[in-house]
Amino acid sequence: MTVLPAFDRHRPASLAGATELLETYGEDAVVYAGGTELFLLFKLGFAEYPHLIDLKGIGDLFGIERRDGELRIGAAETHRSIERHPLVREQWGSLATMERGVGNLRVRTMGSIGGNLCFGDPHSDPATYLLAAGARLEARRGADERREIPLASFTTGPFENALVDGELLAGVLVPAPAPGAAIVHRKFVLTERPAITVAAHLRRDGSRLADVRLAVGSAGNRPSRVERAEVLLNGREADDLEGALAEVADLAADAADPVEDANGSVDYKRHLVGVIAGRTLREALAESRGA
Ligand SMILES: Cc1cc2nc3c(=O)[nH]c(=O)nc-3n(C[C@H](O)[C@H](O)[C@H](O)COP(=O)(O)OP(=O)(O)OC[C@H]3O[C@@H](n4cnc5c(N)ncnc54)[C@H](O)[C@@H]3O)c2cc1C
Repeated sequence: MTVLPAFDRHRPASLAGATELLETYGEDAVVYAGGTELFLLFKLGFAEYPHLIDLKGIGDLFGIERRDGELRIGAAETHRSIERHPLVREQWGSLATMERGVGNLRVRTMGSIGGNLCFGDPHSDPATYLLAAGARLEARRGADERREIPLASFTTGPFENALVDGELLAGVLVPAPAPGAAIVHRKFVLTERPAITVAAHLRRDGSRLADVRLAVGSAGNRPSRVERAEVLLNGREADDLEGALAEVADLAADAADPVEDANGSVDYKRHLVGVIAGRTLREALAESRGA
């Protein structure tokens, strides 16, 4: 049996309470929501904190609702609650599908979307999907300080994020899909967590491709947009997507910047990223409708 190191658990009821605890205990404290990552680290002996701050009593970190036309998801909402929410299923269907593919039922029932993004494990489905969806993040510090962070600037490296001391991730803001637009998320999994993730957003403007956003992740240290492929594809005749896919595959592999690990070599991952990027774009094109 694994014995966890002793800790005091705090359960603030407000953002102000959480920030106050973080300021009081400094580096001796850590926050958690589902605890699926944090308690794993404790059990493996990789981390130890005398003060644990449970975020699940803070109402501002919950809720799934439409706000000013976009979807606002509280950071402490679980993958399961997002996947099953009627608003998400009806109007952000690709998000529900992506969430349904995260881990297993136990992980989705306990793990939160905020915990996934804050932990910064490169093998993340939501991080790649939300990049292609053009999402922003809402950070809060205490009762009054609020700022928005584009998803592209949030993950600063493996297991690192852009939050500053005392700041919490409070929500995820996902724009409404434009009429006729499609987002497709695909991944390649060898063991538990994804080895490769690719997400593509696009729509058709007449006969041409528009608003192409291609994101790749999990193969390297952090998720990334494939901006050079987006430039190549935006404005291109939709019928000629195939003609661009060989170049897109190379650009996607460059942007993914794979690292060698238990999932495979750099060359193997570069190849897979290219193949999956092509498939994902083809599927997004098939799902999109003309505006
Ligand atoms: C077996 C297994 C399989 C998995 N498979 C997948 C998969 O297929 N795809 C995928 O994307 N993920 C996968 N995961 C990862 C899973 O999605 C995350 O473990 C989960 O979402 C983390 O959420 P949590 O609330 O439990 O995080 P916690 O463990 O509570 O927290 C994680 C980290 O984030 C910080 N944190 C949490 N919430 C906040 C906040 N609001 N503000 C600031 N900091 C915060 C904590 O301090 C901690 O450092 C898997 C995990 C496991 C264990």
